[in-house]
Amino acid sequence: MSRHIVILGGGIIGLSCAFEAALAGDAVTVVEPGRVGGQASGAAAGMLAPFTENAEQPDAFFRLCLDSLHRYPEWVRAVEEVSGLSAELVASGCLTVALHEADLQPLQARLAWQQRFGASSELVGPERLRTLEPRLHPGIAGALYCPVESHVHAPKLVAALEAACRRLGVRLLEHAGEITPLRGSGGSGGLDGDGAVAAAVETGAHGRISGDALVVCAGAWANAYAELCGFPIPVHPIRGQICAFDLAGSAAGGAAGAGEPERVRHMVFSSQAYWVQKQDGRLICGASEDAAGYDTSVTERGIARLTRWTPRVFPFLDGRNPVMKWAGLRPATRDGWPLIGAVPGSPNVLIAAGHYRNGILLSPATAAMAVRLLSGEEPPVAGAAASFAPDRFAGRPGVPAFH
Ligand SMILES: Cc1cc2nc3c(=O)[nH]c(=O)nc-3n(C[C@H](O)[C@H](O)[C@H](O)COP(=O)(O)OP(=O)(O)OC[C@H]3O[C@@H](n4cnc5c(N)ncnc54)[C@H](O)[C@@H]3O)c2cc1C
Repeated sequence: MSRHIVILGGGIIGLSCAFEAALAGDAVTVVEPGRVGGQASGAAAGMLAPFTENAEQPDAFFRLCLDSLHRYPEWVRAVEEVSGLSAELVASGCLTVALHEADLQPLQARLAWQQRFGASSELVGPERLRTLEPRLHPGIAGALYCPVESHVHAPKLVAALEAACRRLGVRLLEHAGEITPLRGSGGSGGLDGDGAVAAAVETGAHGRISGDALVVCAGAWANAYAELCGFPIPVHPIRGQICAFDLAGSAAGGAAGAGEPERVRHMVFSSQAYWVQKQDGRLICGASEDAAGYDTSVTERGIARLTRWTPRVFPFLDGRNPVMKWAGLRPATRDGWPLIGAVPGSPNVLIAAGHYRNGILLSPATAAMAVRLLSGEEPPVAGAAASFAPDRFAGRPGVPAFH
């Protein structure tokens, strides 16, 4: 029987859960206080880089990221097929460059454990690096080359997901105004008579929305639901400032291919910044990290490090200024891992938030997990339910709080 799922938040996580639930045959309503994709998801660089982003060890977070990377091609194909729009998934591979000899050692250590998980990586010296990425600074000591990582155009993926959801009959209620979780009939703190949280909200613009299940996908705003859930939700915004150089239409000179359009072929990571070129020719360079509350303004200081390091890694960009600068709020948790799971005692109320630096990557895995949990099934990745339990920061009798 078809259920009605109410999703709170229209970022990539909310839209992905909506898409997956609608595909599974559920009726879905997405409630978004602002514009769909108007926050972190529309600001992201779109890198799908589980090996590069997880340098230390194969923990539960890495495994979830890897599971999501594996899901991406088929998932994007489904979104594109339903929507008729392209998300520009590019299997570019990634180069993590060592700016100094000493930076090579940690790359070697990373290579040792990541090979077991299909990274297919190799350490490359300056000569091979010049063949792979001719526009890199010739003085760069080497790089870890991971060919299996890719990227999407995040705003285009969001637009495609939105269109796909609409095609599948998902109701998207934008500019909903203030969203107030409704308390159940018999209890306090959002609990109804039998101790479960009610799957209903009151909105400023669209009145009362209720369903059979509720999924909180409110990104950096998820902490607003702590009272409803009855445990702390330590999600906070970390601002990311980012910029783009326009390489479209400009031809390169020199040995790298005179007359050819300037192109950076791979995602390039360094200890100071990353770069990824999109199909429209823009080279995105990100990103700063600071805690500025819910302020999404761009500051000179935030962008300065990016513009300072760009010509040190790509000398051909010396003297060029970014054509665009913007910022978004990463939803960070206290331990850096997302919250994905049901509210204890309320299997029909889920949280899927706190994806911090990897929400674009983690969208398909999160959506798959959410839809499984809503059906009372185990998540696809073993151990994920415990690792990402949304109440893991709550102290329980006899059990210390997570941190
Ligand atoms: C500069 C930058 C670069 C990034 N690059 C990458 C990258 O390359 N790869 C990657 O994987 N990730 C990247 N990220 C991280 C990624 O963007 C986030 O993890 C992801 O977008 C989170 O998605 P979300 O849907 O949870 O949050 P959001 O997109 O922020 O969506 C949350 C939504 O909830 C709504 N909302 C607000 N209040 C409420 C409320 N009370 N109730 C319900 N809804 C509410 C908001 O309006 C918003 O639309 C980047 C982030 C930034 C800022």
